[in-house]
Amino acid sequence: MTKIENYIGGELVAPVLGRYLDNFEPATGEVYSQLPDSDERDVERAVEAAKAAFPAWSMTPAEERFAILMRLVALIERDLDALALAESTDNGKPVSLARSLDIPRAASNFRFYATAAMHTGNESHDTTGVAINYTLRQPLGVVGCISPWNLPLYLFTWKIAPAIAAGCTVVAKPSEVTPMTAYLLSKLCIEAGLPAGVLNIVQGTGPKVGSAIVSHKDVKAISFTGGTKTGEEIARVAAPMFKKLSLELGGKNPNIIFADCNYEEMLVTTVRSSFSNQGEICLCGSRIFVERPLYDRFKEDFVVRVSALRIGDPRDASTNVGAIVSEPHFEKIMSYIVLARQEGGQILAGGKQALLEDRCANGWFIEPTIIEGLLHDCRTNQEEIFGPVVTIMPFDTEEEVLSYANSVRYGLSATVWTENLSRAHRVSSQLEAGIVWVNCWLLRDLRTPFGGVKDSGVGREGGFEALRFFTEEKNVCIKI
Ligand code: NDP
Repeated sequence: MTKIENYIGGELVAPVLGRYLDNFEPATGEVYSQLPDSDERDVERAVEAAKAAFPAWSMTPAEERFAILMRLVALIERDLDALALAESTDNGKPVSLARSLDIPRAASNFRFYATAAMHTGNESHDTTGVAINYTLRQPLGVVGCISPWNLPLYLFTWKIAPAIAAGCTVVAKPSEVTPMTAYLLSKLCIEAGLPAGVLNIVQGTGPKVGSAIVSHKDVKAISFTGGTKTGEEIARVAAPMFKKLSLELGGKNPNIIFADCNYEEMLVTTVRSSFSNQGEICLCGSRIFVERPLYDRFKEDFVVRVSALRIGDPRDASTNVGAIVSEPHFEKIMSYIVLARQEGGQILAGGKQALLEDRCANGWFIEPTIIEGLLHDCRTNQEEIFGPVVTIMPFDTEEEVLSYANSVRYGLSATVWTENLSRAHRVSSQLEAGIVWVNCWLLRDLRTPFGGVKDSGVGREGGFEALRFFTEEKNVCIKI
């Protein structure tokens, strides 16, 4: 059985206390590897290694950092199949999705920031005849990156890549539920020749490792993606220490469908935006609002398409819906289906555990579930479920649907389907969301900043914003 190790000071090392946790394969319910149950001692070692590496790394020319990161990109692409299989085994997602989305995006993250760091400049301002001012952007030092389990390597690298490209050194923690691809990345970093201590990966739980990173006095910034409750806790600890914070948190995203939409394209994409990755994407649209003239047609066709999705072994190329990431998360989603029934919802599709055979007989699978008949303000429609469960409801006016869409505490993303250009702009501007997709979903240009509003987070990742996040600005004013 594979024993995952920490990556500290350029080496793969066992946790100080030698304790390990079981790592489960969600599709089988079996333990298939072990990961370090690290604690503050391991974090201390990692911070020391990162501190030692910082002076040289921060002074390494951008071209050299670029060359190393591009070697890493080539290695990720070389190992695409192995990484995709590892991601699927760890997380339960179809291997086809890991192969087409998660792993290529991890390579893109490094490629984008390796390149971006070569093309950033510092501004200068001329106070005519009096002074010249310029702004220096200097890497912050040691930073902490903490990521969740749903898109393991994709989100892990989305943080690490800009931090390293900006010249920081990093102490990072993947989710304890999905540690494997971060471990494989450690090996690739060694192979790529990333200098020792530039990236340190400490495996283990949030309460032990995550909180030790957040509360460490020498960690200058925290980039976190995860649940809103964890984000609150991190902000409570980090804010009084004046750390820079980027918090990418939960969502409860509306998908608004007007009767004039391109119907077939909307239907195909709505199946995807509802159930990709078993609904475990923070950007999935879990509340579907349909303009009343289209409601019955949509409901009928949506149920047919969703019922045809193939729930199966994530390793099978034809599987559309894989396993839920862990048993506790499986239980949480099932409890929301019970709640939805209690709140008066009718189950139009799914609503049950999916029972598979053979290798997957003890896995954690849930049928893609569609619920109707709920009010917009019930708990099912207000709380993040983060699984293959969506609600549908009709609306009559723009004003009405906007009030439903904006009624939640979250503001991560929204989707709008209409062929009416004016309406597309009008509705987009009034939606409380960090990103609005019109007639599409999950299209990302890495140059655009990304992040939520309201309780979905603070700060922006992506684009040049992320490079700036990992630097501090110093203004120099020279009298002439
Ligand atoms: P959690 O908040 O439970 O965990 C996220 C990470 O934080 C994990 O690595 C976790 O470790 C760690 N952690 C837990 N407690 C602490 C703590 N006290 N201090 C520091 N770190 C801690 O989220 P999930 O992993 O359950 O991920 C799902 C959530 O992530 C959903 O709410 C989803 O919406 C959100 N998300 C947001 C995205 C966005 O871009 N806004 C993108 C993707 C997901 P461990 O798991 O080992 O306990």
